[in-house]
Amino acid sequence: MTSKKILLVVCDGLSDRPVKEFDRKTPLQVAKKPAMDAIARHGISGVMDVIGPGIVPGSDTAHLALFGYDPYKTYTGRGPIEAAGAGLIMERGDVAFRCNFATVDGSFNVTDRRAGRIKFGTDELASAVSGMAIGDVTAILKEGTEHRAVLVLRGPGLDHRVTDVDPHREGPLLESRPLVPEAKKTAEVLNEFVRRARDVLDQHPVNRNRLRDGLLPANAILPRGGGSTKGLERICERYRMRCGAVVGVTLVKGMCRLVGMDVPEVQGATGGLDTDYRAKAEAALNLLKTHDFVFINVKAGDVASHDGDFRTKVRVVENIDMMMGMILKEVHEDVVVALTCDHSTPVSLKEHSADPVPIAISGGGSRVDGVKEFDEISSAAGALGRIRGMELMPILMGMADRAEKFGA
Ligand code: ZN
Ligand code: ZN
Repeated sequence: MTSKKILLVVCDGLSDRPVKEFDRKTPLQVAKKPAMDAIARHGISGVMDVIGPGIVPGSDTAHLALFGYDPYKTYTGRGPIEAAGAGLIMERGDVAFRCNFATVDGSFNVTDRRAGRIKFGTDELASAVSGMAIGDVTAILKEGTEHRAVLVLRGPGLDHRVTDVDPHREGPLLESRPLVPEAKKTAEVLNEFVRRARDVLDQHPVNRNRLRDGLLPANAILPRGGGSTKGLERICERYRMRCGAVVGVTLVKGMCRLVGMDVPEVQGATGGLDTDYRAKAEAALNLLKTHDFVFINVKAGDVASHDGDFRTKVRVVENIDMMMGMILKEVHEDVVVALTCDHSTPVSLKEHSADPVPIAISGGGSRVDGVKEFDEISSAAGALGRIRGMELMPILMGMADRAEKFGA
């Protein structure tokens, strides 16, 4: 028996609710999507509570569940995900924080949490403080987009359970405090880093120039959302597969890197409405040559949903369908193809909701049920029934003949 490969396609936030002005239909029900429907027609369908019934998933926790991890046991704050997204490889025992470059006055009062929404020069500012040694701990700071950055603390005896330095509004900077006795050192190191970083950044030429140009200086770092990667087993070891991902959006990219997937940079995969669907299809087909498990995330549907833009969302569905068409032309029965969403983002809410998402799986030795279309309602009549996100990987492993026998 030869095991099959697995392709998991997650359409971020594509699942929706009916909209009155559009005939009480969802974008998936309105769009033309022959390739998506073909997966439903040739396989089994169902609906999925990605985390659990009545739970509104974030993209990060949802993806953890889709990859088979219990988000309640493994999710330890955004810091490590952002770090991985920024390309910082975390080591066991590291602690990571999301940070803002901010403006503080002489008495450490935050006067602007985003340093006037600084766009340029944060790379120079970050390298000016990155590598700082605080006792036996090294602080690594990496700039993100605009005013954002990630801080990784590396050294013995660290623990992420500390309070934020970021006051989350204008006002005095907070001292980080340990939430458990084991985190005392981490809080002290963090406070020391923030103090010393402020001295370095205040004198930095980038900030002098900003002051001269009438801009707010980015003279402080505000860490928040500390986390560690302790409980995360690598996905390749867990499933004994080589895993790769085609992802544009930073948060999900971070999630994939964090669990140990290969995430090549794909030119044109932006994580936005302008993403290059063809490039994504080609990248996925390329990865399928060398990897057993390939994951694709398309963020655009979620972007259109947060804008409350039904028509754009319909167009996104049709673009994803074009991408799926390109892929299906090349893959055959030796690949199990699963198509689903990480959560619903109804355009009427402009936010994520707890509604279950549709799922369709074909290829391999898939059973074939009577469902012929991929959408929120049609899928619910399928043979897969109603599953949870964490059950998806085991189901796919079974369908790809990769599951191990339990018993004699
Ligand atoms: Zn999402
Ligand atoms: Zn979203």
